[in-house]
Amino acid sequence: PTQSGAYNTTFKLLCVGDAGVGKTCLIMRFVEDSYSETNKSTIGVDFKTLQMEMDAKPVNLQLWDTAGQERFRSLTAAYYRGAHGVVLVYDVTDAQTFENLVGWMKDVDNYCGEEAVKLLIGNKSDQEAMRAVPLEQAKEFAHEHGLLFMEASAKVATNVKAAFRLLVAEVMYKA
Ligand code: GDP
Ligand code: MG
Repeated sequence: PTQSGAYNTTFKLLCVGDAGVGKTCLIMRFVEDSYSETNKSTIGVDFKTLQMEMDAKPVNLQLWDTAGQERFRSLTAAYYRGAHGVVLVYDVTDAQTFENLVGWMKDVDNYCGEEAVKLLIGNKSDQEAMRAVPLEQAKEFAHEHGLLFMEASAKVATNVKAAFRLLVAEVMYKA
């Protein structure tokens, strides 16, 4: 399809959250429908692009991943700048990653401003036996902070596409 130019069809999305929660795996699952336990901590470039259809309209997404700087909480302003959508990720088997969301949200609000749509993903939902964060607690947290919310699993491909589509739909609605 030709570029219409009538409205914005390119959106910047990014993932934040503690190291190891599965940010890179979620992006790889969404963009390539692949999963690897041995992802290097970076996807090698600043962002991956993906074209998808929403309401029969082509939408271009830039999915930004970290190169592992989150280990030191040192994501730069440039990483956040101009984001239309932010995916906050925690690991449902690791309560500390849930508690650290408050700090990540502070950074997001600082650098992205209020306009960015925020989606909370509780990743690794395939690990029910190891669950450390109750679903209800996360739902309440998301509600309190105005976040879209889904539990998902990059490993077994549960809710990954659905979660990202939910975010993109809201981003488009706001644009
Ligand atoms: P990042 O540091 O947030 O980018 O985390 P990664 O995407 O590198 O994931 C860290 C590790 O968590 C991976 O190597 C996988 O072993 C594991 N992992 C990621 N997603 C899932 C998931 O959905 N389920 C399970 N069981 N493990 C996952
Ligand atoms: Mg990573």
